[in-house]
Amino acid sequence: MATETQTHRFATQAIHAGAAPDPATGARIQPIYFTNGFVFEDTQQAADIFAMRRTGFSYSRGSNPTVAALERRVAALEGAKAAVAVASGQSAVLMVLMTLMKSGDAYVASSRLFGGSLGLMNRLDGRYDLKPQFTKGLTPADFEAAITPETRAIICESIVNPCATVMDLAGIAAVARRHGLPLVVDSTLASPALIRPIEHGADIVIHSTSKFLGGSGQTIGGVICDAGKFDWAAIPGRYNLMSEPWADYDGLVLTERFPDFAFAAACRVFGMRELGPGLSPMNAFLTLTGIETLPLRMERHCANAKAVAGVLKDHPAVAWVSYPALPGQEGEAMAARYVPQGPGSIFTVALKGGEAAAVKFIMSLKLISHLVNIGEIKSLAIHPATTTHRQLSLADKAIAKVGPETVRLSIGLENAEDLIADVEQALAQLG
Ligand SMILES: *Cc1c(COP(=O)(O)O)cnc(C)c1O
Repeated sequence: MATETQTHRFATQAIHAGAAPDPATGARIQPIYFTNGFVFEDTQQAADIFAMRRTGFSYSRGSNPTVAALERRVAALEGAKAAVAVASGQSAVLMVLMTLMKSGDAYVASSRLFGGSLGLMNRLDGRYDLKPQFTKGLTPADFEAAITPETRAIICESIVNPCATVMDLAGIAAVARRHGLPLVVDSTLASPALIRPIEHGADIVIHSTSKFLGGSGQTIGGVICDAGKFDWAAIPGRYNLMSEPWADYDGLVLTERFPDFAFAAACRVFGMRELGPGLSPMNAFLTLTGIETLPLRMERHCANAKAVAGVLKDHPAVAWVSYPALPGQEGEAMAARYVPQGPGSIFTVALKGGEAAAVKFIMSLKLISHLVNIGEIKSLAIHPATTTHRQLSLADKAIAKVGPETVRLSIGLENAEDLIADVEQALAQLG
């Protein structure tokens, strides 16, 4: 099934990859397998599955057929060898950090990341001695400058939440390769419809499926994709979950047993079986359905965002807009190179009247909802400085373009004329 769809183009894969008519009933839609356990053929099969000598379903904390269909589909869209779906984007970030590293290890992290990722990284530093080494700027040279002998990975976003900066993934991947480090890319704001980080050299790609992949703002979820290209055994003992024997699994070595996707296998055995942040089959089903329309939605998201951002940029009440698809914007060349379709639909707008104007603007919007999600069909607004990015210092907020004067917008699929009218009437109230 996966091999048949490998030759298909993106929109076809979004609809067909990873799922097929149910052989038992003929049901065209992927069935929702609401079952915790799966009956074993015999005790030998049960023992083999538990020892990872053979693959198969045993208990839905580790894997489930509906969730597996979602994993195959996202892996196909990202060009990955395997994927592991989890309960949230947050747990995807956590699982990647915990699987790659142990206490005392460090990793280079982009200084511009989703607020929840920054919060998690700082907490893991304080409590578990997993050290984030934040970059000074966003260029490949900034990432290289942050590397020390303790560094075990490099992490960045493809399009940054919320300022829409498009990162130089190929440049950062070249730095990672030079230093023998895996590159992890959180590609939530791009979705595989806009950027496929593995094509630019990423080793691991993560998504919060709560955003564009699900698309309708119905379900929380996450997914981890393994490109299967990194050599985990190159430096003995370094990435020990992947490259060294597991004593409690009869000496299982994941790079030998699963050479094409040792990292995904480690996420499955350590992450899913032991840490346990499983995705519900119902949520996997809803996300799978959402992905079927992803290519169409992303086209409209980008077109609407560009239209609204353009109107905002030219308005006298607005200081600046961070949407690099507009002419003359900072980062325009990088956006043109990596996202010719457009840099998604999440951006920030700064109001000349400061925090008071930002708050008044949000409260005056009628069609655009005031809530904390992004990447859904409906248009949304939030004040990041007091919500999603509240833990940053004032200086860091300015760097991340989420100062008190900014509003984060996530532009949906309504008619652009109606969105522009809503934004214009809200701006008019600023006086
Ligand atoms: C939302 C988000 C997350 C966290 O995902 P949840 O599904 O909300 O847990 C991680 N990274 C980025 C870039 C996000 O936008």
